[in-house]
Amino acid sequence: MRKHTLSSSAHGLRKVGRNSGQAAALVVVLASGCAGAALPAEVPAQHAPPSSAATTSPLGATRLARLVAGRNALAPMLAEWGLAESGSSCVLLFTDHEEWLVGCGRDVEGFVATGEEAQGEPVLHMGQSLAVSGQLLPFEQIKLAIVGTVGTWSRADGEPAPVLLLQDWDTLHSHHPGFTNSDVSEWLGVLVHEGFHAHQMWHPNVRRVFLELTEQQPTVVGPEDLANFYRANEEFRLALAREHTLLRSATETHHTQAEARQTLRAWLALYNARREHFRADLEGAVHSTRALDIDAFYTFVEGAARYVEARSLTTPPGALANDPAFAATRGRAISQLPGLGGIGPKYVYSIGMYLCLVLDDAAPGWQARVLANPGLLIGYINEVVGAGT
Ligand SMILES: [Zn+2]
Repeated sequence: MRKHTLSSSAHGLRKVGRNSGQAAALVVVLASGCAGAALPAEVPAQHAPPSSAATTSPLGATRLARLVAGRNALAPMLAEWGLAESGSSCVLLFTDHEEWLVGCGRDVEGFVATGEEAQGEPVLHMGQSLAVSGQLLPFEQIKLAIVGTVGTWSRADGEPAPVLLLQDWDTLHSHHPGFTNSDVSEWLGVLVHEGFHAHQMWHPNVRRVFLELTEQQPTVVGPEDLANFYRANEEFRLALAREHTLLRSATETHHTQAEARQTLRAWLALYNARREHFRADLEGAVHSTRALDIDAFYTFVEGAARYVEARSLTTPPGALANDPAFAATRGRAISQLPGLGGIGPKYVYSIGMYLCLVLDDAAPGWQARVLANPGLLIGYINEVVGAGT
């Protein structure tokens, strides 16, 4: 399991500001699971704004450089998918006692400009860590739960927009046992993965599918529900292990387009057999007749985000190609990156990532076509292998 997925302890967390005057109010709504959190939820009732700090402190050159490095790693990926115009690159970076906004506009209630700029956008500061419903949320309660995730906030014009919530690297490194022995590349991977969600989940076709899947359900079935079924069902685990082995081995050497398409054809046969065999049990376990559609949706959502994250780590773009932050991951096979390529309860991440990697050989330039396909990733794979959609 990746360490940056939001734990259920943060479910329903809200950071609330009051909409008044011309300033945008920060109204962040989170849900559990890194993908579910990217979607707009109802804007909560008005609350008192968080108290602003008496002093303003700068983000600082080091943090600024890290943030820009992460954004520079993400930008070519967004361009490749045609996602630059969907969603937002608004970031809220927090430590144990303060927070900054970058790319969220010039005037946000409670925040004060530091005078710094990141890629032409002003940096705003508030002298407290995350606040919820106008009250400070003790850092001790969230330091393990919120590494990076996407929430929703209400802009000055009232429109909901995504915001990437990211724990500062030094804070994370010194407070989170899962990151004690990590280097900054892992934090950059979190930024790229979650930053991708902040655009991907706001693409019109992706939002349409998500809303259609969730409109009849009070609670959203997500990767954690699928993970519980995986943990409880050995036969299901064996079926996924077969799919994982097939896809992973196909990515460890270069394949011709015909070979890659044959791999996808073979995977579809295994996948369709899995759907048929486990349909009733899975639907019962997650209490949804849409269980298989939800499995397919998150295979796309999380697989694509992990694919983007893994590629940015192994082939950092342009100006970052020689950055020491990527020394440990640059040039490595994606299947060998720790925590990214294995199979486990969060199988949708790795199965989806390998499907994307096989598509690199099977259908170059596939990304925008996946977003345009009504069935997204698996719909497009069906199209590529000529099996109909
Ligand atoms: Zn994710």
